Amino acid sequence: MTPNLCDYEQTRATFSWAQARRALDGLPGGGLNIAYEAVDRHARGARRNHPALRWLGRGGERRDFTYAELCAQTNRFANVLRELGVGKGERVFLLAGRIPELYLSALGTLKGGQVFCPLFSAFGPEPIRQRISLGDGRVLVTTAALYKRKVAEVRATLPGLRHILVIGQPEETRDIAGILDFHQLMAQADERFEIARTQPEDLALLHFTSGTTGTPKGAMHVHEAVVAHHVTGSFALDFHPDDVFWCTADPGWVTGTSYGIIAPLTHGITSVVDEADFDAERWYGIVQRHKVTVWYTAPTAVRMMMKVGTEVIRNYDLSSLRLVASVGEPLNPEAVVWGQEAFGRPIHDNWWQTETGGIMIANYLAMEIRPGSMGRPLPGIEAGIVRRVGQGAVEEVTEPGVEGELALRPGWPSMFRGYLNEEERYRKCFVGGWYLTGDLARRDADGYFWFVGRADDVIKSAGHLIGPFEVESILMEHAAVAEAGVIGKPDPVAGEVVKAFVSLKPAYAWSDALRRELLGFARKRLGAVVAPREIDHVANVPKTRSGKIMRRLLKARELGLPEGDLSTLETQ
Ligand code: ATP
Ligand code: MG
Repeated sequence: MTPNLCDYEQTRATFSWAQARRALDGLPGGGLNIAYEAVDRHARGARRNHPALRWLGRGGERRDFTYAELCAQTNRFANVLRELGVGKGERVFLLAGRIPELYLSALGTLKGGQVFCPLFSAFGPEPIRQRISLGDGRVLVTTAALYKRKVAEVRATLPGLRHILVIGQPEETRDIAGILDFHQLMAQADERFEIARTQPEDLALLHFTSGTTGTPKGAMHVHEAVVAHHVTGSFALDFHPDDVFWCTADPGWVTGTSYGIIAPLTHGITSVVDEADFDAERWYGIVQRHKVTVWYTAPTAVRMMMKVGTEVIRNYDLSSLRLVASVGEPLNPEAVVWGQEAFGRPIHDNWWQTETGGIMIANYLAMEIRPGSMGRPLPGIEAGIVRRVGQGAVEEVTEPGVEGELALRPGWPSMFRGYLNEEERYRKCFVGGWYLTGDLARRDADGYFWFVGRADDVIKSAGHLIGPFEVESILMEHAAVAEAGVIGKPDPVAGEVVKAFVSLKPAYAWSDALRRELLGFARKRLGAVVAPREIDHVANVPKTRSGKIMRRLLKARELGLPEGDLSTLETQ
């Protein structure tokens, strides 16, 4: 199978967003709607009976939705909202696990011209209340269990929330006051719906960031974003018509929406959704049984698989896989190489953020991978390394290998159009014709980008800038280490010194001898300036629910400072 992106230079040189837009249909009669591109245009065409979503239940159930079925069900949901009088542009929040109703509601919301706002199902009542209140939610769709555990107690504080649709058996929903029964409304609704005439700049999605570096921000995206979802599905994930794609991310995070819902559907392929959480053997079983060809996951999952080891993989036939990709955090070079050993192919890292709405920098299937690098910018994306020079100005760093802030030229379709209620913060992201990402990186002589760290996490020690990722990656190379989190600890002489926290693989126990061994191991590999001065053991490195190491929390705990916003902290 020929990869979609073979000649990188040539494709970049001839690419235009206007032309990319022509790969989509647009609404009959004008306008653009994400759900039309994802569902209806296939339901009307040759792919109408092709499986669109393959849902795998926690307990082993399976449900396939063809494009035609998906179209009918999402029409029903759009009609439910219309019957309730929910207007265009109003926000519909979703709080549910990865169940089919979540996907139907998401796409139905987009069809009606309302804004889809996913919430992660493991949030507690306060983060839920905060986000709905900030986002001025009109409708909430949730399950009976989640309603009782999390929503009931904060409901009175959300006067703007007019309708709560609850998914559950009749006996579960019957005794809840003041809610609507989701399934009952769906059963009564018409299967035909004419999609709202949305324009490319109409608001479509509201996504909260992961909260890795502070209070989560609400990033606003428009229907035009679908052009980028589609193009990146082609180039970075190499979608072909017969692919079975599995994105393991939850739609509570942007990856789970842009790639867990939209991009595979705009390509008319089959997208697998697993309701259950990570379990290495379950995952390998799914790849084998459903012949997954393109697999998109995250470094945290890869590290968990590495922890389990490669022996179990030998019990599965994973030969259907032709591309394994990862996003969300830097992918340690060790993990890229492990992919080769485990799956017979390396893992392709790519980089983007909630704000960028889609993949911006990637290791392409047909291009040499440099382990530890994020790859090269997508066609249509201009990325640069810049340095801030005084107030409101930046200059581009053109020499290869020099660190600076990763920046993008604004104007790609899935660029966020604002931070919810934070206009000033949004404005500050744009300086001198660049969007500043808040990440530090460098570019090598061949145009590959290398992640250094988040601007907030970078350690300044004795005049050197040290990215925690570099140190974590070396520690991960030691046989005993499962995960590592690295911070800067204030030091009167050096400014900051490097301190590491490690968790161990099951066969290893923490001891002073192991600490000394790790200190020596890191010093030999990294040199005295960059190597950690101190290493402590933790049972688990704290992470966000989207799987990112929360270095700010390690630091706050180390220094006895307030722990800050923990709404997205994964609880172990
Ligand atoms: P917050 O902005 O609330 O602190 P967050 O930045 O973690 O949270 P996301 O938008 O989910 O929220 O994550 C985007 C960030 O994740 C990027 O800015 C970058 O720091 C990191 N990231 C994503 N992919 C990669 C990658 N391939 N390599 C390195 N870092 C990555
Ligand atoms: Mg961020």
